[in-house]
Amino acid sequence: MDFELPEHTRAIKDLVQHVVERHCLPLEAEFLRGKEVTDEDLQRLVDAAREAGLWGLNLPKELGGADLSTLDTVVVIEQNYRTLFPIEFGGNPFVFLACEGEQRDRYLMPIIRGEKKFAFAQTEPSGGSDPGNQMRTTAVRDGDDWVINGSKVFISRAGRADVIVVFAVTDPERRQHGGITAFLVDKGTPGLHLVRPIPIMAANGNDKFYQPWELYFEDLRVPASSVLGGIGQGFRLAQRELSTQRMNIGAECLGISTRSYDMMVAYAKQRVLFGEPLAAKQSIQAMIVDSWIDIHTTRLAVQHAACKNDLGQDTRVEAGMLKLIGTEMATRIVDRAIQVHGGYGVTTELPLAHWYNKLRPMRLYEGPSEVHKFQVLARELLHR
Ligand SMILES: Cc1cc2nc3c(=O)[nH]c(=O)nc-3n(C[C@H](O)[C@H](O)[C@H](O)COP(=O)(O)OP(=O)(O)OC[C@H]3O[C@@H](n4cnc5c(N)ncnc54)[C@H](O)[C@@H]3O)c2cc1C
Repeated sequence: MDFELPEHTRAIKDLVQHVVERHCLPLEAEFLRGKEVTDEDLQRLVDAAREAGLWGLNLPKELGGADLSTLDTVVVIEQNYRTLFPIEFGGNPFVFLACEGEQRDRYLMPIIRGEKKFAFAQTEPSGGSDPGNQMRTTAVRDGDDWVINGSKVFISRAGRADVIVVFAVTDPERRQHGGITAFLVDKGTPGLHLVRPIPIMAANGNDKFYQPWELYFEDLRVPASSVLGGIGQGFRLAQRELSTQRMNIGAECLGISTRSYDMMVAYAKQRVLFGEPLAAKQSIQAMIVDSWIDIHTTRLAVQHAACKNDLGQDTRVEAGMLKLIGTEMATRIVDRAIQVHGGYGVTTELPLAHWYNKLRPMRLYEGPSEVHKFQVLARELLHR
């Protein structure tokens, strides 16, 4: 279904497909039979990727990475997300690319090498969709230090993180327009309280690695050197990185959808009921055809936005659209695939039920569907 992907992109795609089939799908099969997946299992996937020459795909060249184009990246992500256990190809340093000076050796490089884990703490109890207006956590300058007070909710991986990027208001007048700053806070810093893990609907064996937490900061003191990306630049930094993440989520949803589609078609052809395969029934054909159209049109949109990004054009609106249509498409397709599989579809012995649970929170984090539709798309289209 790809339209003339460049030859080298097709070659990376084939290699990733091969690694996923050889290493991720067997781990997934063991998990579906009841095995508990460990850190060592995930490390083995990274080692396999390294061996295949796939490590560092998304990293810039000066950090030893392959600095893939956005088009290559979305194609790789789609293949990688055809399994419940996608590989981290050389970590995803995310906002840590903004590290400067000694922050690079202390945080960026260990994160890339997989030695340090991090969490991203923006959302607060007062409203995650609107962090610019709703953020209540403050950081106040005190000599060479900053003192942080406030709380956060739904912070994925905070319990396992060596460092947490905490966003705080440093200038209440300017807020999202230069008044929010990001701070690097080490695990164990006095005043950083991990209040509780927040139980959410389970997705797959990766859940325990991504568990969201509630945090509380009480006179949390950090040095001036812990500012990430400049004083007042936190909101811009977060929005820029989240925009890239949103395009990637569109590609992740393609991976989940294509595998669910393949499973749906295979099962519809082999399951015989009322004297003929399910695939002969028009209602089932409609589910298959609608899913194919969903996948084909979304893939075109993802790859088009990726090409635009590679040309240096602004893709913030496309990124919001892809997060919206990607998660909603995958929700529909996984739901149809479950329906075609009947009772087997809802067993936890197939990946479908795990994706079904994974997709529900995906329609909320990194901006709920309505925020992308009304705050991003409607505003842009009506004011153009
Ligand atoms: C599993 C999970 C992991 C997460 N991980 C992280 C993390 O690592 N770091 C982090 O900082 N945050 C994280 N979040 C938080 C996530 O980003 C927020 O939940 C999300 O931004 C929504 O914020 P909220 O929950 O406060 O809902 P609210 O902001 O209260 O919104 C509630 C609902 O209101 C509706 N709504 C909001 N705005 C509009 C609008 N303009 N028009 C119409 N309807 C609207 C939407 O339906 C929305 O779902 C995570 C959340 C989950 C569920």
